[in-house]
Parts: sequence; structure tokens; C-alpha cells
Amino acid sequence: MAHKVGFIGLGAIGRPIAVHVARAFETMVWNRTAQRARQFADEEGAAVADDVTALAEWADVVMTCVPTSANVREIVEAVGGAWREGQLLIDLTSGEPGASRAIAEWLAGRGLGFVDAPVSGGTSGAEAGTLTVMLGGEERWVEPAREVVAPFAGMVVHVGPVGTAHALKAINNALLAINIQAAGEGLAALVKLGVSAKTALDVINASSGRSNVTENLIPERVVTRAWQRTFRLALLDKDVGVALKVLQDTGVPHAATGLAKEVFGAGRAALGEEADHVELIKEIERAAGVEIR
Ligand code: NDP
Repeated sequence: MAHKVGFIGLGAIGRPIAVHVARAFETMVWNRTAQRARQFADEEGAAVADDVTALAEWADVVMTCVPTSANVREIVEAVGGAWREGQLLIDLTSGEPGASRAIAEWLAGRGLGFVDAPVSGGTSGAEAGTLTVMLGGEERWVEPAREVVAPFAGMVVHVGPVGTAHALKAINNALLAINIQAAGEGLAALVKLGVSAKTALDVINASSGRSNVTENLIPERVVTRAWQRTFRLALLDKDVGVALKVLQDTGVPHAATGLAKEVFGAGRAALGEEADHVELIKEIERAAGVEIR
């Protein structure tokens, strides 16, 4: 089926995703900072909407890729009575399960579908079109959503009902946060003992403690001192908060995630809204008085 896709949110991950969408479907974009939308349209050949209502009036599928579920709700409310029966909202935001269920219920009352579709794989995965896409929703809406996410996906998994994909994404990112914290602390101690970061990482990455953090993020960003900015620490802090709520709501122990929330909350306060998630290790280095290299 030929879709008219309206894409909202051309940020660090939204923009490279939208490139694939615009190549596969007739696409209209809207971005809070209008200049980014105009530049995207010039470079990628998409149309630009003046506001979210104009975008929703034109599209049959709307995709959102904004920081939080609160931002998605604001967009849904701003369109208000202009939503039409049969339209589908695919939310790529790393959002909150409860908020997504409420948005889905509101839209369902007007005959629209909602699928939470958070992604994993980072900005490089988005550029390559190889993201892992988790889908939460009813089969009749997940089916068309599969077709629209396919151009930027390496793997697409229907996780369960609305909200479950957002829950899975949050738990994944809590694991990422815990790994950053634990690997940063452990490596700082080893460097103080005179072990080079390279030696420590070579051994860990051939052993049971390895992770994406030790295999990729620390070698590429910390040891090189390049500290690339691709995924804001503020967004990871938000994700750990979502994961903590998922654990609390399901009555599961949450000591590790609770501690990560404290540490990343403090890191966000110290490093600001624009710092990258891996820069949390700068705070560990500062406290330890050592550089991991
Ligand atoms: P960015 O901060 O880079 O971009 C955010 C986007 O949302 C921008 O287009 C911004 O517009 C827009 N925006 C911000 N606030 C609002 C608002 N109140 N109303 C409407 N639009 C708004 O974030 P990312 O692109 O990195 O992340 C987007 C989502 O994807 C987040 O939920 C994040 O957790 C998730 N994610 C990010 C990954 C990454 O590697 N970066 C990986 C996987 C998931 P403006 O241009 O005006 O700032």
C-alpha cells in the first residue's frame, strides 16, 4: 500500500530515520524548530507542514520521534478534532507505557490506531537503516506499521499490546546505563592500579563482563577522548526513570535500576542537557582523579 507519511521530530535519531522514510514513501515533515524541517525538505525532497494539524490532515500514517511521551500527548492534543478515523500513529519515541496506553485509548475512541515503536541501534544504525524496532499494539495496526518501519529496520519484533514495546526499550536502556556506570568505575580503578585501559578492555572483551559499552562505546569515545555526542545523557536519564517505574508498577526489586537513576540524575545535573550519555564517565573520572585511556 502506498502511504502518505507525516514525520514529526527531526532530532539526532529522527532525522536519519526520516531520510529512509522519505525515500520509501510520500513524506511530509514537521519539526519544532522550523529551519530543520525546511533544510530536511530541501535535502531529501519531502514536503513541510506549517503545523502538526496540517501534517495530520494530509497523512494517513503519522510518526513521532520526540523526547518524551508528554511531548507526544501535546502533539496528539494539538491536532485534536482534525484526526480522522483509520489513521495510524506510530510513536518512535522512547516513551512511557502508561502514557502510551492512555494516548492509544484516546485515539481508539476516534477510530485511530496507535503503535509504540521505539528503536535501538543508535544514530549509526539509523543512518544504515538497520535499527531494531519493537512494536506494541493490536495486530491490525501492527501489520501496517511493519511496512512503514521496514525501510529503516534490521529487525522488527511485535512485543505485545500497546506499551510493552516502550517497557522493553526502557529496560534495555537501564541495562545500558548500568553498564556505563559499572564499566566506568571498574576501569577507573584498574587504570589507577597501573593497568592500561586497552589491556583491561582486551581481557574484559574476551571474558564474561563484556557488553556494548566495553566493546564499542568506551574504546570509541572514552579511550580516544573523542566523546562523540549522539544520544543525550538527559534522554538516557529519562529512560532509566521509565524503567524504574515499570519495575515499581510490576512489583519487582529495582535496586540496580534505582541506583542508576540516582547516578544518571546527578550526572545530568552536573553535565547539562546536551552532554552525551557516555560522558557520565567524565564524572567518574573526575571523582577518581584519573583518565581512562
Ligand atoms: P534530540 O534531542 O536530538 O531531538 C529531539 C527532537 O524532538 C527534535 O526534533 C526536537 O525539535 C523535538 N522536540 C523536542 N521537544 C519537543 C516538543 N516539546 N514538541 C515537539 N517536538 C519537540 O533527540 P533524539 O532524536 O536523540 O531522540 C528522540 C527520541 O528517540 C527520544 O525519545 C530518545 O530517547 C529516542 N532514541 C534516541 C536514540 C539516539 O541514539 N539519539 C536512540 C534510540 C532512541 P527541535 O529541533 O526544535 O529541538
